[in-house]
Amino acid sequence: MAKRRTVIAGNWKMYKTVSEAVDYAGKFLEEVRNVTELDIVLCAPFTALSSLKNELEESIVHLGAQNMAWADQGAYTGEISAQMLLDVACTYVILGHSERRELFGETDEEIAKKVQKALSSGLKPMLCVGENLNVRAEGKAAERVSTQVSRALTGLSIEDLRRVIVAYEPIWAIGTGKTASSKDAQEMCASIRATLSGLMGSAAEQVPILYGGSVKAENIAELLAEPDIDGALVGGASLDPLSFARLVHNAT
Ligand code: PEP
Repeated sequence: MAKRRTVIAGNWKMYKTVSEAVDYAGKFLEEVRNVTELDIVLCAPFTALSSLKNELEESIVHLGAQNMAWADQGAYTGEISAQMLLDVACTYVILGHSERRELFGETDEEIAKKVQKALSSGLKPMLCVGENLNVRAEGKAAERVSTQVSRALTGLSIEDLRRVIVAYEPIWAIGTGKTASSKDAQEMCASIRATLSGLMGSAAEQVPILYGGSVKAENIAELLAEPDIDGALVGGASLDPLSFARLVHNAT
């Protein structure tokens, strides 16, 4: 069985103006230009994507967005379509991030529609799932995450499922400095893979499953040593180009 390729994705959240993004891209590319053994993605705010398209053109760094509408076009004030993301050279899109779920009320049903739209448009969805502290304390983390995965992905063809990336991000570990232990993260990622197997059989072995939650240069190698953790979705530690480049190098 071919080894899954490592994916390291930065999620800038609502940080960086266009000039800050351009400055970052120059410094970051300088540091990672020789890294070919893993996929690097920068998920930037919508306003910076067009400039980043120019900066990252023909580089090894892929561009991603942090959200997307489920509709193609129309009277949806404030929304951004898949076509608009393709137009600025995005190839990835984060969907169902816990901040979208918790702060903006996104439901599993909406996220499922967005995943379908991303796939039919040719974008790679990074589906985020994860439990909060109460659910974990009740011992229901695996069940909650399995439900989120199933609700977002049921009904997709195996062909489509092969293009999905899943990011396990326990809510209690995001931006808190608390990382799940690599053993706990592995257990949850293995359980996600079992859920994926129920949907797509042995092809689930090919789906990249990322861990997210206070990942930094210092802990990435330990996380990646686990058999079902294929990369990381990185928030805070992706904001500084030199620190993020160090994290990328520690992932190789
Ligand atoms: C995230 O934004 O997806 C994330 C995991 O953030 P942080 O790395 O800051 O915890």
